[in-house]
Amino acid sequence: MKIPVPSPQTSVPYTQLPIILKLQNVTLAYKNALAVDGVSLGLVAGDVLGLLGPSGCGKTTLLRIIAGFELPQTGTVEIAGELVTGNGCLIPPEQRHVGMLFQDYALFPHLTVAENIGFGLRRMQKSERRQRVAELLSLVRLPTLENRYPHELSGGQQQRVALARALAPQPQILLLDEPLSNLDLQVRLKLREEVLAILKQQGISAIFVTHDQQEALAIADQVAVMHNGKLEQIGTPETIYTQPASRFVAEFVTQANFLPAQLQRNYWVTEIGCFALKTEISQHKGDLMIREEDIILQPASDGAMKIATRFFLGHEYRYSLYTPSGKKLYAITPASIALPIGTQVNVSLKETANLKVFESQ
Ligand code: ADP
Ligand code: MG
Repeated sequence: MKIPVPSPQTSVPYTQLPIILKLQNVTLAYKNALAVDGVSLGLVAGDVLGLLGPSGCGKTTLLRIIAGFELPQTGTVEIAGELVTGNGCLIPPEQRHVGMLFQDYALFPHLTVAENIGFGLRRMQKSERRQRVAELLSLVRLPTLENRYPHELSGGQQQRVALARALAPQPQILLLDEPLSNLDLQVRLKLREEVLAILKQQGISAIFVTHDQQEALAIADQVAVMHNGKLEQIGTPETIYTQPASRFVAEFVTQANFLPAQLQRNYWVTEIGCFALKTEISQHKGDLMIREEDIILQPASDGAMKIATRFFLGHEYRYSLYTPSGKKLYAITPASIALPIGTQVNVSLKETANLKVFESQ
């Protein structure tokens, strides 16, 4: 069954949009070590889901389960409303209409670009196949390279060929496993934009795996954060950034600072100041999340802290400094405020600061 992709203008509530992929309580252990631990999630048709987490957290294993290469011990996978994994069912990968793109391109070295792209189209008539390959070459902007071999291409070009090959059989879902991680920054940023444009133009639902938080926040409609095989949080990039559900998400995704804090009356007391804020935690002790961009540094001869390092990032500076008890803090300020290393400063927070207290670790 083909699920229609809603147009971007559709104003249906998010929860009522058609789900192309549904995972329920999926668990897989390798030799008793849990790689994927009770993961449930849904992918809305036409969306790009950014699957984000550190190396070893189970991202590739989850993709392999969705593609049908691994059978989880528990849980179910449904594609377009059809059960494909679980309850005694395992539909083979080639019958799932799921495409895959890997970090190392995985092209066939003895086949030309055109032959690689046409590999999944062998059942088509020759002329039809030639036309489809030409369309795809143009889509990934490689119109003149059809007779080259993979070793005659740059990394970025090889990944364009791999993308065309994955798109050729018109998959319903494309799984991209860190597809840009082997490319240098400039190529990565350019190809990221192009891949996203192609997915949206073709209405392809996709899971884009990355360990790069900026990449996930930049490209995804929804971001799913994994940690130790578990799904920690799923939401829009804005929600993940502004309302991290766990200390791990706050630390990994937003690179926030944390300072020990104690609740006294209505204030959370830290060594850099007291802050009135509501929290959901029951203890009187916790760790206060402080965003790097929410810190104000005020030079003062009697300042309690000293600038330890300074990095120029073009449009801003990133400073590190130590609190009186020796805790390291990072602060980002506009590039117009250049403070030399060793400057004594007082630290305060912007009125708009996004603060949150998490249970202490
Ligand atoms: P990620 O893609 O997030 O880096 P993986 O899904 O590759 O993580 O791996 C998750 C965990 O499962 C890791 O601890 C890894 O060592 C383990 N693992 C992955 N594949 C296998 C395998 N074939 N056999 C045993 N352990 C595996
Ligand atoms: Mg991986």
